[in-house]
Amino acid sequence: MNAPFFTPGPGPVQLDRDAIAEQVTALGARIAEDYGDEPLHLICVLNGAFVFMADLVRAIDRPVTMDFLSVSSYGSRTESSGEVRLVKDLDQSLKGKHVLLVEDIVDTGLTMQYLLGYLEGRGPLSVRVVALLSKPSRRVVEVPVHYLAFEIEDAYVYGYGLDIDHRYRNMPFVTSLRPGDTEP
Ligand code: IMP
Repeated sequence: MNAPFFTPGPGPVQLDRDAIAEQVTALGARIAEDYGDEPLHLICVLNGAFVFMADLVRAIDRPVTMDFLSVSSYGSRTESSGEVRLVKDLDQSLKGKHVLLVEDIVDTGLTMQYLLGYLEGRGPLSVRVVALLSKPSRRVVEVPVHYLAFEIEDAYVYGYGLDIDHRYRNMPFVTSLRPGDTEP
């Protein structure tokens, strides 16, 4: 029989299903409380945030609306170039809505900087950010992360929506490569 596919990688960052579920539940409760009865509109940054988004919206026990956009950044397999391009636009207007942008990971911050500028320009009441992961040691531009599940060290992570070259997104936990490696 083949070895199981859901095997943690050899790197330093390892977040198991229980640790993720605990943080996502706590974030959902905080978000529900902070926004009270205000109209809350979540925007998922595809592709990487789709698993986090699916769990997070089910941890927010109040009405929300949601939309999806997709960006790609040019670059090599495990390094983004910072040149961001909108691949799929929003379907709904942001007018009169409090927007919560749902990201998988904030690395250099360049993607987030681009997205915040883009969203602010579409007339929302407010824009905040929720991220599953942040690598503060890699930051090139300062960006706000209002809600964060995990701060991690500088390692390339994958699983729970994050990919290596479009693979591994379905692993139910977050794991990582050894520094310098491009494959587990
Ligand atoms: P930034 O623009 O450098 O902050 O990178 C943001 C995007 O790069 C994220 O939304 C991810 O798609 C991707 N990314 C950055 N670091 C990682 C990683 O460790 N694993 C998987 N994707 C990553």
